[in-house]
Amino acid sequence: MNQFFSGIKNSLFSLIAFSILFALVIEFQQHWLVKISLIEQVLYGLFVVTMLLSSYFNRSRLALSSGLFFLFYLNFMNILPWGQVLFSDGRWLTITIASILAALSVVKDRGLLSVHGIYRLMLIAVIAFTCAYWLKIEPEMQAMLAKYTWLNTWLKYLAVELVLVISGLALVFQFIREKSLVTSALLSSFVIWLGHYYQIITLPWSVLLTLVLLHYICVVLVDSYLFAYRDELTSIPSRRALNQLALSLGRKYTLAMLDIDHFKKFNDTYGHDIGDQVLKLVATKLAQVKGGGKVFRYGGEEFTIIFSGKTPEQAIPLLEAVRQAVQDYEIVIRQPERKTKKARTSKKSSNAKTVSVTISIGLAARASKLSFEQTLKLADQALYRAKKAGRNNVSQ
Ligand code: GH3
Ligand code: MG
Ligand code: MG
Repeated sequence: MNQFFSGIKNSLFSLIAFSILFALVIEFQQHWLVKISLIEQVLYGLFVVTMLLSSYFNRSRLALSSGLFFLFYLNFMNILPWGQVLFSDGRWLTITIASILAALSVVKDRGLLSVHGIYRLMLIAVIAFTCAYWLKIEPEMQAMLAKYTWLNTWLKYLAVELVLVISGLALVFQFIREKSLVTSALLSSFVIWLGHYYQIITLPWSVLLTLVLLHYICVVLVDSYLFAYRDELTSIPSRRALNQLALSLGRKYTLAMLDIDHFKKFNDTYGHDIGDQVLKLVATKLAQVKGGGKVFRYGGEEFTIIFSGKTPEQAIPLLEAVRQAVQDYEIVIRQPERKTKKARTSKKSSNAKTVSVTISIGLAARASKLSFEQTLKLADQALYRAKKAGRNNVSQ
């Protein structure tokens, strides 16, 4: 369960930030209402910026979604010549956009200007046609289902609400499963779309879409930042983030290099995939270091912890605690399930197994006239000594 919700922080934070922004917009209505025509003008530029930015940063789902809202807005402003014909059915528009947002939450971000971009456009077209077809056959479905009297009160929700509920559930499910900022942005657009359809949200479209696009832009920028500075496997900050921090460190800090013991052998015994699982879990344990220590994946099975403003004497007990925690950690690994009938019916625990690893730690304090790289090197030498001294210990 814990793992299910772990990592949801960023995406949840994004939704909360959006809600606060939304509340502020409502609160300060009188301030922006006078500038509404300016907002309308700026919105076009915002659309272009959002589409370009999100496709440039390979967040193609947001590019598609903003493109979709762009079409919708052009039609809303009566700019699309064929819009009156195409978008005249409000119910169709409502379920189509909702279903597309849900579908986008399920597919991956893939290059827009590639064959995947064409697939996604095709998917959107298929959804649009399916929704039109659904509304066309819906009266027949009603007639067919009318014989079930207990269904009668619900039949009026068949055309629109049913689709909205399914789309909404898919979005929420994806939001929890994927824990990504992109799904949080898609979900917030869905809520706006729904709110407007049921007239719970009555702000003008130009303002609503400005909010939606600003949310998209923030997501693209924050997500790209996290992408660059977060290690992909372990989700902790990467070596690039360490180098970045090195530039802003004060004069007093203690630096520790940590290395998993005999990890090569571990990989040879259990396989690289399980090695990866263990690396992830060890990183999670290291990240729980106390005393404000900042943890980075230096590379491979090596990690760095920085205690700024701390002496080695202060850092050693904290590192000992980390070393002990890793040693005591019985890591439950899941071996690839065999899809035989027996495996499926057997108890869950039968394919779970526990393993454990140890780490060696070397630390060094920054001395005057020492650069960050030199301090790092000292810590590395201390790590070498820790390995020599039999591993699973802290050496200075
Ligand atoms: P020592 O106790 O001396 O550190 O022994 P070691 O085997 O851990 O040391 P060495 O540096 O020779 O080997 C590191 C191994 O870590 C090599 C590689 O198999 C493994 N490794 C490095 N990066 C990854 C990774 O991302 N995933 C997995 N599964 N293994 C990795
Ligand atoms: Mg190593
Ligand atoms: Mg090692």
